[in-house]
Amino acid sequence: MTDCIFCKIIAGEIPGQFVYRDDEIVVFRDINPTAPVHLLITPRKHIASNTEATSADEALLGKMFTVARNLATEQGLNTSGYRLIINTGAGAGQTVLHLHMHLIAGKPMGERLL
Ligand code: AMP
Repeated sequence: MTDCIFCKIIAGEIPGQFVYRDDEIVVFRDINPTAPVHLLITPRKHIASNTEATSADEALLGKMFTVARNLATEQGLNTSGYRLIINTGAGAGQTVLHLHMHLIAGKPMGERLL
């Protein structure tokens, strides 16, 4: 999508601090981190949110978890713990309408929503 900021980052049209890239998934640092580690695991394919994903995207969604796990393991985060968040819809706090998973770590995270 031409007006999607994450599509522009993925296409290299605006800068991103990339930490991982393959043919389906791109991971870059959040511009406004809420923790020492704050990564955005993002499919190259423009899917507005989890609501717009289809069964055809099942493998892609699974791969987002695999990439998150591999990055967390590589960075030694699995011992201290990390949080994966997918905000879906404005009411849940989604501000960028391109599906992405937040990987957050490096600070105590006692607060819970449920
Ligand atoms: P969400 O609110 O779940 O849609 O998350 C969107 C995230 O994208 C926020 O945490 C923003 O800080 C982040 N963000 C917005 N613009 C950029 C950008 N140009 N580069 C990196 N992260 C961004």
